Amino acid sequence: IKDYHHKKVLVLGLAKSGVSAASLLHKLGAFVTVNDSKPLNENPEAQELLEQGITVICGSHPIELLDEGFQLIVKNPGIPYHNPMIQRAMEKGIPIITEVELAYCVSEAPFLAITGSNGKTTTTTLLFNMLEEDNKKPLIAGNIGTVASDVAQMAEKDNNIVIELSSFQLMGIDQFKPKIAIITNIYDAHLDYHGTREEYAKAKGYITKNQEEADYLIVNIEQEAVMDIARRSKATIIPFSAQRELKLGAFVKDGSIYFHDEKIMDVKDIVLPGAHNLENILSSVAAAKLTGAKNESIIAVLNTFEGVKHRLQYIGEIKGRRFYNDSKATNILATKNALAAFSAPTILLAGGLDRGNEFDELLPALKNVKAMITFGETAEKMERLGKMAGIKNIQRVDNVEKAVPAAFDFSEQGDVILLSPACASWDQYKTFEVRGDIFINAVHKLK
Ligand code: ADP
Repeated sequence: IKDYHHKKVLVLGLAKSGVSAASLLHKLGAFVTVNDSKPLNENPEAQELLEQGITVICGSHPIELLDEGFQLIVKNPGIPYHNPMIQRAMEKGIPIITEVELAYCVSEAPFLAITGSNGKTTTTTLLFNMLEEDNKKPLIAGNIGTVASDVAQMAEKDNNIVIELSSFQLMGIDQFKPKIAIITNIYDAHLDYHGTREEYAKAKGYITKNQEEADYLIVNIEQEAVMDIARRSKATIIPFSAQRELKLGAFVKDGSIYFHDEKIMDVKDIVLPGAHNLENILSSVAAAKLTGAKNESIIAVLNTFEGVKHRLQYIGEIKGRRFYNDSKATNILATKNALAAFSAPTILLAGGLDRGNEFDELLPALKNVKAMITFGETAEKMERLGKMAGIKNIQRVDNVEKAVPAAFDFSEQGDVILLSPACASWDQYKTFEVRGDIFINAVHKLK
């Protein structure tokens, strides 16, 4: 494990992870300088670090800073590598890491790490719940939990740190070595940051770069880009597939989930809807089994888990209509997944920020949609799409709050009412969470 004592470290970019990294390094005896673009008077986090005795430079990123002999840079994952300061640091050969690497170095607890384009949060949550049910003392870090290095500092040896990792975070690891790693899938995304698809896949591959035979890499065997990474990994490979029987790993056979040659449970007893979620379930079951979790713990979670908030989350039933909040669906693929999860007649609530794209790819997914309520900047495009699909009941409304009663008016017993906007929320709502909460409230008001 690395020694940060008396090391001269520059923390670039604050936010939650930068703050934790800076105070941890300070505690470990490093000489820490923090540099953030927000001016000090608008930067409570920087002020807090200043009070701890950390050097703080705020308001700009002066490139001369790099001439001060820093031995290490901890970069906020949001800062791209083409940033001039990062470029200069790389030219100078200063090692650049992200905060996860620090987290790894301060903890003896095993890391169970999840990455991929889609399904990270769901898989992380499923695995966390299974280990919790099995009394394996999991701690959760990443998107929904707290910052990795805060979690790592609290962790004891017998904890299990379940962590969701973006490729941005993975780009900055050095020794990070998860006991169990999952790559859910690799789709084209975030290409603006990584440049090419190869670069993006490479970043995901970092999750396994330090793994050895005693470690496990759980991979989606149906995806070539993922299997490319697996072939180069030294870890023991555990495949999963929702589409075919495997000799080894997690898969579905005759309507049941299997791990290796053992039947775990029937798919029909799983509460979480969606074919995509079945993949998330298979990979989390594989990970849970590898930690030694009992089947009954796994089954107990899958019998009850209704989804992570805003991700095809079941809200409840009112007068025979089932309501689902999929506000996290900010792109077409996500909404396609959501629609594919239901065979019942569906009323779709969609629209939001206009990124200039059309939605024609959604067309085949609309076959069970009997009515559409549209809103936001893309309302008109959505309407056009609905008409192309031959949907008779299409109504444009001002916002999500008004969309819910409008949807109810078109509905009958047995219908699904689904918010899955296929667009980001920023034209009307600060975050997809706010949008989802407004939907939930509006559904409760119907009662
Ligand atoms: P992430 O954390 O990677 O963004 P989430 O678990 O939050 O993923 O899921 C976000 C959305 O991505 C879901 O609403 C769903 O539409 C889609 N999704 C989830 N899991 C998968 C999967 N295994 N394959 C494809 N799409 C998925």
